Amino acid sequence: MTADPDCLFCKIVAGDIPGDIVHTGERTLAFRDINPQAPLHVLVVPRDHEPNAAASAHADPEMFAEIATTARAVATAEGYDDYRLVFNTGAGVGQTVFHTHCHVLAGRPMTWPPG
Ligand code: C5P
Repeated sequence: MTADPDCLFCKIVAGDIPGDIVHTGERTLAFRDINPQAPLHVLVVPRDHEPNAAASAHADPEMFAEIATTARAVATAEGYDDYRLVFNTGAGVGQTVFHTHCHVLAGRPMTWPPG
């Protein structure tokens, strides 16, 4: 498994800092966002460190599919059929943590296009 010792989400994956974990998968982990933007706001992350979604998809396409199925499982378990998945990819569109993560958002009306 690849990890970056300076990466916040690697530390959550390793259990070195606490996370409100809602799903544990072989290659993924899901935990509640510390600053929720919707009634359901969970982050699904690969255990392996990659800086963004494109890099993860390139490195391990099957794991990337697992992110999508984990996101659905999390939403379903919390009673939501409709949910939004967001991968911010690059600082210019708001990525602040450079370990791949999928935002799973649900439970309020959402507009399009996003801000
Ligand atoms: O897509 P972006 O990189 O901006 O998302 C990072 C997310 O990680 C933010 O929604 C932030 O609230 C969340 N976060 C967290 N726990 C931390 C630090 C950041 O859930 N300790």
